This record gives sequence, structure tokens and C-alpha cells, in this order.
Amino acid sequence: MPHTARQPNDGFGPGRHWPSAEDLAVTGNATLASPVSPDGTPEPGRRYEIPARHGLAVRLRAGQRVRVINTHGTQVVDSWAFNAADPTEFMSMEHARAGIDRIIPKAPCAMLSNKRRPILFFEEDASPGVHDTIIAACDIWRYRGLGVEGYHDNCDDNLHMALAAIGFAAAETPSPFNLFMNIPVRADGSIGWEPSPCAPGDHVTFRAEMDVVYAVSACPQDIIPINNRAPVEAHLVVLA
Ligand SMILES: [Zn+2]
Repeated sequence: MPHTARQPNDGFGPGRHWPSAEDLAVTGNATLASPVSPDGTPEPGRRYEIPARHGLAVRLRAGQRVRVINTHGTQVVDSWAFNAADPTEFMSMEHARAGIDRIIPKAPCAMLSNKRRPILFFEEDASPGVHDTIIAACDIWRYRGLGVEGYHDNCDDNLHMALAAIGFAAAETPSPFNLFMNIPVRADGSIGWEPSPCAPGDHVTFRAEMDVVYAVSACPQDIIPINNRAPVEAHLVVLA
């Protein structure tokens, strides 16, 4: 899908806008131009970089596994899964929490879709197990609220650009499974925004329970300390 300047309604639903070409030139975000392949089919075993501040999407057949690697140990990776045959069905944090009786999924466990069907199976967690399911993807409005005036790369735009780059579209931005994100939920009900406790090379592995489009964003958040205020690259590999 060619990149176009902002439009009042570009087909991604009311109010959804692309960042402008000028916006992307300022930050150097090349998500739209750098899919793993034209239709998102990955090369099994190949280690793909998720560049700092960028998004990436791959198609997984049922039974294929994907590993997301926290290369430097400091990076949050927002993640989503969509039914490849029906983008209105997607991995849902609300439904997943009800299915596992937890705020933080603990492998091994099934991640449910908004139709309460297993869409991914969280197979292995080679990290401290600190992830987040309660915080929305960062978006341009989040950065406006934090005082950023111009364009700021964000996970919301990264998701939709990564999907468009492989010829897929979703009408909304589901709540992401925020891998390696440290949002402690305290006994008094409050939350914190803390750096990831991971070590370099920590990783998580999921198995597709149906044919899915799996998307990730190396979160560009640099205003609050969830990425040590220094967003960096992460990696993804689809296991053969
Ligand atoms: Zn983000």
C-alpha cells in the first residue's frame, strides 16, 4: 500500500491518520518500506531486526512459533496477533486475563482472542516474566500529553504501518501484549512505570494456534523510563 499524506479518513476507520511523509522523514521511520517480504511470509530461522522505534509484521501458519528477543535487555516490545482470515478477531488482553486468572501471563498458557479462542500459545518465557497487559499502545496523542509538539514515533502508527507493509489492515489498535514492560500493580491499586528487569538476550516464544498475522513494535517511548529513555532494536525469529 503506497504511503500517502494524512487524510481525514483513510480507510483505517474514523479518525485514523497516517503520519505524513514529512513526519516520517524527521524520525527516519521506515516501517512502511521494510517488510520481511511483500506478503509478510518470513524465512524460518532468520533473525530479523526490529529496528529501534520501528514496527514489523509476519504471517505465521498454525503451529509455527515466533521468538521475540530483548537483545539489549532494556527494550519493551508491544505485540499483537490477528486472525489472518478475519482481522476483527485478534489477541485480546481483556479476554486473555479472564482465561488465565492473571494480570501478567505466565508461560505456558493460552492467549485468547476477543472471541475467547486460543490465538497464540505462550510456550516459553526465558526472561524474569515481567510483561504488561494493562497499558494501551503509545500513540501520537500520548506524546502530545507528554509535551511533544512535533511527530514522535509511536507503537500505534508502527502497528498499522507494519500491517500495511505486508498488505494487511486492521480497523483498530487492540490493547497490546507489552513484552518485557515493567508496570508493577501495587497493593493499593496504583501502578508504576519502571525500566525492564531483563538481561540481554532474554526472550519469549509463542506458537500460533491459527493462521495469524503477528506484529510487534520496538516501543519508541523515551520520555518516561520504561525503555531506560533510550529505545533500541530488538529481534524476532520464526522458528522452523
Ligand atoms: Zn510504545
